[in-house]
Amino acid sequence: MDKIFLTTGPTELFPEIKEFINEALNRKILSISHRSEEFTEIVKDVNIQLKRLMGIPDDFYIFFLSSATEAMERIIENLAEKKSFHFINGAFAKRFFDISLMLGKDAGCIKVPDGSGFEFGNISLQDDAGIVCFTHNETSTGVALNLNDIYLLKKKNPGKIFVLDIVTSVPHYKIDFDYIDAAFFSVQKGFGMPSGLGVLIVRKNLIEKTRELKSKNYNIGSYNNFLRLAMNADKFQTTMTPNILNIYLLGRVCKMMNDYGIDKIREETKIKSDLLYDFFDNNGTFQPFAENKYIRSDTTLVINAPEGTKKMLSDYGFQVSSGYGDYKKKQIRIGNFPVQRIEDIKNFINAIKKLK
Ligand SMILES: *Cc1c(COP(=O)(O)O)cnc(C)c1O
Repeated sequence: MDKIFLTTGPTELFPEIKEFINEALNRKILSISHRSEEFTEIVKDVNIQLKRLMGIPDDFYIFFLSSATEAMERIIENLAEKKSFHFINGAFAKRFFDISLMLGKDAGCIKVPDGSGFEFGNISLQDDAGIVCFTHNETSTGVALNLNDIYLLKKKNPGKIFVLDIVTSVPHYKIDFDYIDAAFFSVQKGFGMPSGLGVLIVRKNLIEKTRELKSKNYNIGSYNNFLRLAMNADKFQTTMTPNILNIYLLGRVCKMMNDYGIDKIREETKIKSDLLYDFFDNNGTFQPFAENKYIRSDTTLVINAPEGTKKMLSDYGFQVSSGYGDYKKKQIRIGNFPVQRIEDIKNFINAIKKLK
């Protein structure tokens, strides 16, 4: 049976992906050199489309990596001196923290229970870590932090580097890069694309921090350190032969979303998440994991559900994700990205009503 994927990533692909791949094949883009003029034009175009879609200012680099997880490692290597500081409210934030420890940094954190957010009013960043890391939308728990809380904290700590994991946030949530120094995502979630490409957005002047770390003999990594990434990005090139297909697809998908209108996409995502939460809040079987409505994610919904729900939904033609880690059997997770249509969500709710 042809299933609709309402998973948190990898997820459904945009139907247009087929056409874009065909285009790439016909234009022989997958055979050209990554040092060619033609490839440089593709990278330039991705820069234009992505910056337009996400409102990224010109004083930011866009680096292409293999995954979001790679971005975590590159950020710690290239921007963290002895310490890093992490806001942990789920598994992905914890991964970022663990990577810092594995790289030998003295990683500090503030940790709250799964399913909750942070009391930002009570937080002062006394820690002397120069870099502060947040997971804006915690895919494991369905909690999205309030971006204004993060911006306010940045205003109080202008000297610290603020890093945001926006893997399942974008393009739905609008990031204000006045207050964020680096952010990263991978394309198999909110961009409805095949996996294998990570995108790291970095304020250009932070390269000076990397230079400083290098001069102090810190290990900034090798082929994908920020110095090499920046030198290549300045020429709209990459440090090695990259995932050319996905870079091309990203440009096409961003252009498609720009043509459709990002405001409209955001409105539709909100309509769909309202439909879903309305249903889950008003029935006896399922409950959103995050009790506080103000921290609930629009894009990744985590729902307490009886064991076997995922299997039953799959019989109705809808693939959802299991709960993350220990929550595998107790929860389902639903991806609500631009690729999922309002119609899909309505049909999904009708199917889940039949389960009872
Ligand atoms: C999926 C995910 C990641 C990891 O992405 P990869 O592309 O698998 O490395 C990191 N953070 C969040 C919030 C995610 O949802």
